[in-house]
Amino acid sequence: MSEFKTPRKRFGQNFLHDQNIINKIVSAIAPKPQDAMIEIGPGRGALTFPILDVVEQLDVIEIDRDLIAWWQDKNINKLTIHAVDALEVNLCTLKNNKDLRIIGNLPYNISTPLLFHLFKHLACIKDMHFMLQKEVVERMVAQPGSKTYGRLSVMTQFYCDAQQLFSVSRHAFNPPPKVESAIVQLVPNPARLKINEEQLAQVVKQAFSQRRKTIRNCLKNWFSVEQLESLNIDPSARPETLDLAAFIRLAEATAPNPK
Ligand code: SAM
Repeated sequence: MSEFKTPRKRFGQNFLHDQNIINKIVSAIAPKPQDAMIEIGPGRGALTFPILDVVEQLDVIEIDRDLIAWWQDKNINKLTIHAVDALEVNLCTLKNNKDLRIIGNLPYNISTPLLFHLFKHLACIKDMHFMLQKEVVERMVAQPGSKTYGRLSVMTQFYCDAQQLFSVSRHAFNPPPKVESAIVQLVPNPARLKINEEQLAQVVKQAFSQRRKTIRNCLKNWFSVEQLESLNIDPSARPETLDLAAFIRLAEATAPNPK
């Protein structure tokens, strides 16, 4: 039987040990027996075991070979272990189900690329609950005009309804990370299907490339002042004051090639 070595920093291993917090997270997830649930990064099972108490079947995705061997040794019938990198896996083909519930105390070192990877698979996802660095969750749910509002806020809120549920102290983990954490709930937004996400992603990236400039300056190769005004966007506004609807109007008006 393989035993653990010390937690691996390169896999972002900060294991939850505070039972009150674990219970609170599991209650927020509210697993049901029939759920088609996938946990990213089960680690030593802080969330996995209480979830296994409820669901009839659970899939986990883990990258660390020692942890994979540890889980395999346990030989838990209703657990399917996928020894893959969550950044590479296609969730929609992993499990034949269109209502996946994805959960995880995510490795913070890859959280933003992992979120953008997950956003590509929303067609088969019902909801997601993640523990992330609090600062990342705050950026995801930030509203226009706030300091933390930026590309991650606009893209997250385009793809999903995002809610920060509660914060988690660093002391709930072993080893404690340097930062505070928070739980975010993400429910895919059906309206996203009507909009060309590539165009939106490009215009948002360009708009936030120079936060301190006006939107007219940031998008000067894309839109004239008159075009911005016709889209009901103040050319002298700063990008962080534009709401998602404004970015969608910009994306829809974007020609395939910038002028
Ligand atoms: N769920 C456990 C808990 O709450 O205590 C562990 C959480 S720990 C923050 C992150 C977990 O994700 C670790 O088990 C780590 O090995 C795993 N992990 C890291 N990078 C991964 C990746 N690219 N794909 C899949 N799992 C990964």
